[in-house]
Amino acid sequence: MKSDIEIAQASQSLPITEIAKKLELNEQDLELFGSDKAKINWSAIKQAQANQHLGKLILITSISPTPAGEGKSTMTIGLADALNNQLHEKTLIALREPSMGPVFGLKGGATGGGRAQVIPMEDINLHFTGDMHALTSAIDTLAALVDNYIYQDNSLKLDPNRILLKRGLDVNDRTLRKITLGQGSRFNGIEHEASFAITVANELMAILCLATSISDLKQRIGNILVGYSTDNDPVFVKDLHFEGAIAALLGKALKPNLVQTIEHTPALVHGGPFANIAHGANSVMATNLALHLSDYVVTEAGFGSDLGGQKFMDFVSTHLEKAPDAIVVVATVRALKYQAEQSTDNLANENLAALREGFKNLERHMNNMRQYNRPVIVLINKFDSDTEAELNLLQNLIAKHGIDSEVVTYHNDGSLGGIKAAEKVRDLTSQEQGEVMRSYAKDDTIQVKIEQIAQKIYHAGKVEYSEKALAQIEHLKELGKDKLPVIIAKTQYSFSDDKKVLGAPTNFTLHVKNLALKNGAGFIVVSTGSILDMPGLPKHPAALDIDIDDDGKISGLF
Ligand code: ADP
Repeated sequence: MKSDIEIAQASQSLPITEIAKKLELNEQDLELFGSDKAKINWSAIKQAQANQHLGKLILITSISPTPAGEGKSTMTIGLADALNNQLHEKTLIALREPSMGPVFGLKGGATGGGRAQVIPMEDINLHFTGDMHALTSAIDTLAALVDNYIYQDNSLKLDPNRILLKRGLDVNDRTLRKITLGQGSRFNGIEHEASFAITVANELMAILCLATSISDLKQRIGNILVGYSTDNDPVFVKDLHFEGAIAALLGKALKPNLVQTIEHTPALVHGGPFANIAHGANSVMATNLALHLSDYVVTEAGFGSDLGGQKFMDFVSTHLEKAPDAIVVVATVRALKYQAEQSTDNLANENLAALREGFKNLERHMNNMRQYNRPVIVLINKFDSDTEAELNLLQNLIAKHGIDSEVVTYHNDGSLGGIKAAEKVRDLTSQEQGEVMRSYAKDDTIQVKIEQIAQKIYHAGKVEYSEKALAQIEHLKELGKDKLPVIIAKTQYSFSDDKKVLGAPTNFTLHVKNLALKNGAGFIVVSTGSILDMPGLPKHPAALDIDIDDDGKISGLF
């Protein structure tokens, strides 16, 4: 089979104006980026927001990620293509924008795979419509304005050693994790330590993905906690009056981007916070807009259901005009065997014992998602090496829990690879829906929120707080910020905070090490273990396989 990029490049896209017509949008509603990409203009966004229509929302999540691959984006796109092209339902995809750091690092592209991809895949994976660059500029402009304020004026006595803002780059560069600014003469500014985080980990990315209008964007930027004064008073962006300029840099980036799948299903690809250190879903602007513009919206939450899925159900969906109507948990036979074997060496060989053992991971994920009181189905993303016996065993194990499943081949066959699956998902969305049962109540304290997630989703035995974390919780109480939602930063590989513990561990201790107030985004990041917000590059970065020819054709993106 051809590589993802070869399949994408061989496909014929329709003019984006034709795709927009499927959503009853015309050329004036679009800001065109070439012939195959567009942003949706504010007038069209506002008009759509005013209509009463809300489509059905389908959330795609998965088992814990492994090097064997799960294929969430591929399933998101394949399922949407099947709803759109086989069941003829008006369907729109809402997906995250890839970060260039992982594209050149370990992961390669993030636009689906095989016959289930969004295109133009090179553009979406690289500069796209410039949103990441706008964010990087906004992050670094804000940091420069703050340092300049300290240098020029500093009437608020902002302590250069207690600035919480990080600079940003959409590059995996471990050398920038810790740096010293302003070395040399005093004309180079005040010398102080600083650090870079990858653009997608910055609070401004979270804000872009949560803001529902330009005024909301501006207000959230104003609420960012910059740092503390030498008198220990918090200093916010609005105290320094930088929110207007930073919002101006991001105004265009707030508009969702319209592209298409290989099979011409419309897709909004917009915003991309990581799901381990941030909330892990595409923008609220795009998902809400999609709900107004179509009858079925398929969206994806990052990493496994314990990270992106939990955050989507407990946090993101409270910002949307509706919660998901159905939840799809993606699993693969290979990844479940990996859960048991912890090696990629023999994944192509039939191994029913390993599958049975590894199933415990899927069992935990699907039952966890069911706690939210939404219908759950498992889609088994079939790889060529999966055997009949393995697929049968897996479906039987799932059925014992009263949960339905379907084996799909969207990767190899496009929308034809899972028509029945699309019918089943559609049926689930029309079931009578009760209240969503969230893991914690809005008014719970920080500790109760953390403990509820640890108990209900991770199945930890207890939560242990470092001295520092306890002091931070006290400080958040003093600031009156102890009722904000929590975003737990945890390894994506395990339900626990130890990435080596696979499967479905119980009775372990979750270690809370640090809390950080993201006051503009409106959440508290709770770190367990050491989660890096500036990844490094591996020994063989994906970049070594990426190239461009004399005609400008890019290869090796995956
Ligand atoms: P995720 O969203 O879970 O990170 P993706 O959908 O991006 O996963 O898929 C990761 C890679 O795995 C892509 O290159 C894709 O082509 C490949 N892949 C996904 N499903 C299959 C499959 N059934 N067979 C072969 N390769 C697959």
